[in-house]
Amino acid sequence: MSFFSVDNLSINFGGIKAVDGVTFDVNKGEVFTIIGPNGAGKTTIFNLVSRIYQSTGGKLTFDGTDITNVPPHRIAALGIARTFQNIELFEHATLLQNLLLARHAHKKSNFFSELMFLPSVRRMELEHREAVEKAIDFLDLQQYRDSFIVNLPYGVRKVTELARALCTDPKLLLLDEPSSGLNVEETEDMAFWIQDIRNLLGITVLMVEHDMSLVSAVSDRVLALNYGRPLAMGTPGEVQSHPEVIRAYLGG
Ligand code: ATP
Repeated sequence: MSFFSVDNLSINFGGIKAVDGVTFDVNKGEVFTIIGPNGAGKTTIFNLVSRIYQSTGGKLTFDGTDITNVPPHRIAALGIARTFQNIELFEHATLLQNLLLARHAHKKSNFFSELMFLPSVRRMELEHREAVEKAIDFLDLQQYRDSFIVNLPYGVRKVTELARALCTDPKLLLLDEPSSGLNVEETEDMAFWIQDIRNLLGITVLMVEHDMSLVSAVSDRVLALNYGRPLAMGTPGEVQSHPEVIRAYLGG
């Protein structure tokens, strides 16, 4: 059985079929990337997986569980984390505070039972701190730990988004255009981080990306979409040279 599967997924917005019968499987430990021209339905698939949108048809299965109808907070608790195309961090909090907030929000527990068991609260707090510090160290963010997000370069903020997702202990990481806004050098660094996340932490990655150098560097398999429908699936090389994909990108 595959680790994560999308079966005949669809959603309409008014008359627009934004996602129209999309099917794919992601294997454990794989980096699987969705590409496609603007408006192809890539981000909508992420919003369906993280259950921000309710599909009009199809099925989502994660780690043996049918997640088609589970609410968004349960999705996160099951181990699916995501980053956003436009960075969503608290700008007037420090990097450390952003990560601690994310970790607390993710692992929230019952306040009254916590009051009754103060030693376990302390233990939990230590665990949260440890997970956050681990993510900071892993992504080499120590020097920015106590800086306010608003004062950090854009490239560092993008890596901070990765750290925020990592400190929630995900099994599946959804990366929405990790290279957007980055220069060539920062995009190369991003490729290294994604490879490390998969190779050293064993986290499965589902990514949406435009930059084909990043796609080729990190992806095991690629799905190309156009107008919400699958065009081609295979290795990065196979998909890039597929005639339908070339036609979609050239607008022919
Ligand atoms: P881009 O590369 O530009 O981010 P994309 O492939 O991620 O594009 P989506 O954002 O998924 O594309 O959009 C797919 C289609 O669905 C577009 O036609 C878009 O206008 C439409 N769409 C997406 N979200 C909504 C919404 N909430 N309401 C109405 N239409 C929507």
